[in-house]
Amino acid sequence: MFRVWQCSHREPGLAGIRLLLSAIGQLFFPSSCLLCSVPLPGRPEVLFCPKCMGGIKFIHSPICPVCGRPFAAKGQPEHLCHTCLSKPYHFAKARAITFYDGPILEAIHRFKFGKKIIYARTLAGLKSEDGPFNLDQFDLFVPVPLHVKRLRQRGFNQTLLLLREWAGEEKEEKIDFTTLVRHRWTEPQTNLKHHERRKNIKGAFTVERPDKVRGKNILLCDDVFTTGATVNECARVLKEAGAREVSVLTLARATAQ
Ligand SMILES: [Zn+2]
Ligand SMILES: [Zn+2]
Repeated sequence: MFRVWQCSHREPGLAGIRLLLSAIGQLFFPSSCLLCSVPLPGRPEVLFCPKCMGGIKFIHSPICPVCGRPFAAKGQPEHLCHTCLSKPYHFAKARAITFYDGPILEAIHRFKFGKKIIYARTLAGLKSEDGPFNLDQFDLFVPVPLHVKRLRQRGFNQTLLLLREWAGEEKEEKIDFTTLVRHRWTEPQTNLKHHERRKNIKGAFTVERPDKVRGKNILLCDDVFTTGATVNECARVLKEAGAREVSVLTLARATAQ
């Protein structure tokens, strides 16, 4: 009898307190768009207003079935892109949620370089439940690591924050951010061409504990896919360490390659 009384009274009580706190929070700290600051009704997960959301370009078919490169011509059948035909990647499949331009470019810059970690939940919330990947199919989620010098400069790994949002509490234990290590410092790849990027990043990562990745189906995550050189190198060392398969999920993808 005591248990019944305890359950039926305590849970609605806690829910009520949460509702009350949320209402007070809403009163004193109303939600607003992270980009243009217009007020948003309620407490949405994604803090972008309809106008800013409208400027985000989501990636749709037709794309390269391996690296996910979007093709401009609509209606054409999906086919391998020239990179996947000429110099195949080490990952099985890469997918990005949006193009890296407009509001997303601005938001990622504020998140990474402006150190606004509040962007993590909103940016991660642009991924739909099942797309581009259903996360249940993976054994392990691995963020592209930062060099310790970069981590100290920035104070956080932006990809790990996105990944924590994607995994949620129930899959958080699948995140492994210690096994793959970036041990060599590399200059930013911004001004390098595709083949130069692959050369520049080669040998920058190591797998510290191969037993952690052996036989595993891994989802490797990064914030932006530019030429794929970084995730390709990570996939190469993970496969070399015995990973069964490596797929790549990035928040955004640069249009130029
Ligand atoms: Zn806005
Ligand atoms: Zn491709």
